[in-house]
Amino acid sequence: MIRQESLTAEFGALLRSYLVTEDEAELYRASELGRRLAAQGVGPDALVASYHAALRALFAERASSRAAPAVDKAAGLLLEAMMAYALAFREHQRAEQQRLEEMRRYSQELERHERELRTIVDNVVDGLVLLDGQETVRLANREVTHLLHRPLDELVGRPLPFERLPFPAARLKDALRDIRVGRDQLIEWEVDSASASWRIMAVPVHHGPQFFGTLIVVRDITRQRQLDRMKDDLIGLAVHELRAPLAIILGYADLIIGRNLSAATGVEYVRTIQESAEHLTRLVDDFLTIHRLESGAMPIHLRPTSVAPLAGAVARQFDATTHCHRVLSTVETDLPRVLADPDRVTQVLTNLVSNAIKYSPHGGVIRLDARVAKDAVEVSVIDQGLGLPPEAIPSLFGKFYRVPTPDRQNIAGTGLGLAICQKIVAAHGGRIWAESDGPGRGSRFSFSLPIADGEERGADSRSARDPSARTSSE
Ligand code: ATP
Ligand code: MG
Repeated sequence: MIRQESLTAEFGALLRSYLVTEDEAELYRASELGRRLAAQGVGPDALVASYHAALRALFAERASSRAAPAVDKAAGLLLEAMMAYALAFREHQRAEQQRLEEMRRYSQELERHERELRTIVDNVVDGLVLLDGQETVRLANREVTHLLHRPLDELVGRPLPFERLPFPAARLKDALRDIRVGRDQLIEWEVDSASASWRIMAVPVHHGPQFFGTLIVVRDITRQRQLDRMKDDLIGLAVHELRAPLAIILGYADLIIGRNLSAATGVEYVRTIQESAEHLTRLVDDFLTIHRLESGAMPIHLRPTSVAPLAGAVARQFDATTHCHRVLSTVETDLPRVLADPDRVTQVLTNLVSNAIKYSPHGGVIRLDARVAKDAVEVSVIDQGLGLPPEAIPSLFGKFYRVPTPDRQNIAGTGLGLAICQKIVAAHGGRIWAESDGPGRGSRFSFSLPIADGEERGADSRSARDPSARTSSE
């Protein structure tokens, strides 16, 4: 770009030359020079200054010169040229502004694209790393920063820190080499550490026909592995548990087919088969329920729910079918509502009441009750049955646990009922527990459910309320 001094100097030279030669071409050259300078972005200050200097020189010449008309003409031409410069400069400025505006829009667009890409990449649950041909990190998502315990700005633009990977790096290095030399299109493998498992995928990335680098995808499959293991355990146990009732069914079917039985004995055997088949059905249902609860596939539809009608219905249903027990609900109808799935709460109550009946072989009263405790409602099923030895209490809610005392040897069961209850209650954010004064002194199984938002709380005084506000199975 031409500097202001040289501009003035050139103007001066052109004007002097004009005054000597009276050659108008010199003036036009001066005007052209101005236009060119304006197009280069020389500001109006510089132009005005040079015009000013040029005009001053002209007028000085005019005073001493006899060639006044020539000087006047030169001044006129210069003013015209100045107008032309001003226009050219304004045009230049407008074009410049437009270019800036376009650049701003373009960079905004770029920023938006980058933000969108970042959001997508960060929201991928898998770890994503893009390495270039030199194994320098070009892109990494949030999951990778967790995996490598490094912030993003310490990863991007630097070599991948293989030593920080939570799994041995040798296999990955081999894969990167194989991809670089074009031996493979996709390499996929699984690794396990003591506490976690991953599936890793490496794929080549190209820019047009050119190899750019490798995209590594790291997927945490720990939960999937756990579920697979749980499923295997459950299948093993299921097969084991299903064998006993199946053997009974087959044995009695053989007896019926192979022997000449009296009608009464035949009916008795068929009844045994029926009971075993029912037991089988229950087992399969329980296995499925446990599996669904453990894998998170059991839908729980939480809504504000009153416990009293549910407890009343369960009590009435059992009271109608049991002979030597009395089942009743004393749950108050004006308790605050809980945030729960009514079907699941009924399932828990049904399990607890059926246990209470089953483990009260000599009959007795079974009572359902509930009270407010801080932010929860605690529901209890109280019986007068076999009770619990203290050492059994911590194990009761584990899968397949059954109390091994002789008094219940002949009571059938699988040990899944309380495990199911525990998982359902946990899915509601509550807890479940058992109390007993000891063997032969009855049991009390209780669980808590959170009070729904907007319900009145802390009404511990309810037990002193009017007893007519109760539901009962009577
Ligand atoms: P399932 O319910 O799967 O048919 P189950 O009743 O044996 O079999 P759980 O309901 O999980 O299994 O109960 C575990 C154990 O806890 C039972 O075997 C029983 O010994 C004991 N138990 C449960 N409820 C009571 C109760 N109300 N009184 C005394 N013991 C109980
Ligand atoms: Mg049970």
